[in-house]
Amino acid sequence: MTGPVDGWGDEWDHVADVIVVGSGVAGMTAAAAASSRGASVVVLERGVFTGGTTAKSGGVLWIPNNPFLRERGLTDERADALRYLARTAYPTLYNPEHATLGLPADKHALLEAFYDNGSVAIEELLASGALVLESLDYPDYAAELPEDTTPIGRTLQPRLPDGWRRGVDPSGGQYLVDQLQAAAERAGATVLLEHRAAHLVRNEDLEVVGLEVQVGRRTELFGARRGIVFASGGFLHNRRLTLEYLRGPVLGGAAAEGSTGDFVDIGIEVGAQLGNMSHAWWDQVVAELAVRVPETIKDVYEPFGDSMVIVDRRGRRVVNEKVPYNERSQVHFDWDPVRREYPNLLLFMVWDEAVAASTDPSRFRFPVPPPGERFDFVITAPTFAELRVEIEQRLEKLAPWTGGFSLDPSFADGLAATIARFDAHAHDGHDPDFHRGETPIEQAWAGAARPGAPSGAMHPFAAEGPYHCVILGPGALDTKGGPVVDDHARVLTPAGEPIVGLYGAGNCIASPAGQAYWGAGGTIGLALTYGYLAGCHAAAETARTPS
Ligand SMILES: Cc1cc2nc3c(=O)[nH]c(=O)nc-3n(C[C@H](O)[C@H](O)[C@H](O)COP(=O)(O)OP(=O)(O)OC[C@H]3O[C@@H](n4cnc5c(N)ncnc54)[C@H](O)[C@@H]3O)c2cc1C
Repeated sequence: MTGPVDGWGDEWDHVADVIVVGSGVAGMTAAAAASSRGASVVVLERGVFTGGTTAKSGGVLWIPNNPFLRERGLTDERADALRYLARTAYPTLYNPEHATLGLPADKHALLEAFYDNGSVAIEELLASGALVLESLDYPDYAAELPEDTTPIGRTLQPRLPDGWRRGVDPSGGQYLVDQLQAAAERAGATVLLEHRAAHLVRNEDLEVVGLEVQVGRRTELFGARRGIVFASGGFLHNRRLTLEYLRGPVLGGAAAEGSTGDFVDIGIEVGAQLGNMSHAWWDQVVAELAVRVPETIKDVYEPFGDSMVIVDRRGRRVVNEKVPYNERSQVHFDWDPVRREYPNLLLFMVWDEAVAASTDPSRFRFPVPPPGERFDFVITAPTFAELRVEIEQRLEKLAPWTGGFSLDPSFADGLAATIARFDAHAHDGHDPDFHRGETPIEQAWAGAARPGAPSGAMHPFAAEGPYHCVILGPGALDTKGGPVVDDHARVLTPAGEPIVGLYGAGNCIASPAGQAYWGAGGTIGLALTYGYLAGCHAAAETARTPS
């Protein structure tokens, strides 16, 4: 933070070269990139601690053509990687014969910028000692597609200090943010907590030169000579915005409470174009938790267990339970045009005692309690008929949030028939209905098969109860729509012109990923890359004055 600055009068409480709004991975990467290039940097965080949703995460990053992959002799050719990115981000536009793969040139350029700069950012952060990373051998989430010619090697994670236990000590995401923050602070950046950006300030040329910031009850004026980078997370916890923009109803999700979409309104005020507003990084929430507290602790990423199914209100399977969360969760948005309702608004994850008693410490175990523990949202009954009665009681309590969603009278019989059919498929190790357990990521996450079972993803149910059930609803890690940026992370007007001085990165912008979730780390890898682009570009700008 600087003192009196030439051309800036007394009305400014603080003036810096670059102001970053938000202290998650996108913001801290922008701060580290800008400060290491000599810019004075202030990071404003509305919360009482840094990290946002990133701090709750595993800190896993998906970076194409990254140095770890190359060190192992794997190749990630640019043209091939772009095909995978484009095919999954915009499936209805994709055309492999077209110069920009069927995408509008600007959207294609965003994917090129990700491929070209993600590895550069990682190399710089590794070389400077800002980050210490390692490979995580998860296959990509759509590794089975022919467009994916590098199905493994793009996923990285923070290498935790010796003695730390993953998932027990501070999360990988918290550690990632802490490392980036330390790098930015070593280079001179200042981080201010409980500072909430409220409005942008522009000069006579309509260049963005400052921010009105709420600090308790006061408003302070922050001047930015070279640029302001918004990295303020998505809008999952803003009821108005989720209702207006998302493609279907959501009950909540594990995004941090600061994900209130401030950049949507702030961007609109200065004429930003909005994009990708209907999409989110989808997941499933435990409905009974999310209606009480929409800012959930954690959600359902990979439904745990082999003798487990997810069924609808008639007791029928409607989805491959093991398909990664972003794709699986969109089944909640199916629309019944005759009954004029979302038939899958709520779904029912049912498992048997063998799954309940499993001692597998999988990081994906939630919402199945560890053996010996009880969660009050787990419904347990000795038979399917009794399970139905218990579920109905819970649904009555959920009615104010679901439009009175109820079970079909056929639920118990439907569930019995579903499980009989599922058991037969589990015996064969093949699921002709939903192809459960067939893709590389499903196999990697399913773990070892029980002795004698052909698949780790499926096992016949126990013939006797008790059976357990959790009610699942639609949710998200966070949203991924907001002001549209270009390949330097500059925010654009509807005419496609940059709004000078304004940048965006992470979940607060129209995601370059479109509707895709490329692999584990897909959100953080992209946020880091665009934070890096924003920080580098802003730091290189000519200093501006407020008049
Ligand atoms: C449990 C969980 C696990 C996850 N694991 C992974 C994973 O391993 N890999 C992966 O890629 N993704 C993961 N995700 C998703 C990932 O964490 C997020 O998509 C990503 O971290 C978002 O980064 P960001 O920098 O855009 O926003 P955030 O990390 O949310 O940071 C935004 C910050 O901006 C602040 N802010 C908001 N408005 C203002 C304002 N007006 N003024 C000042 N500050 C403001 C917020 O308080 C917040 O601190 C996970 C998510 C969850 C919930």
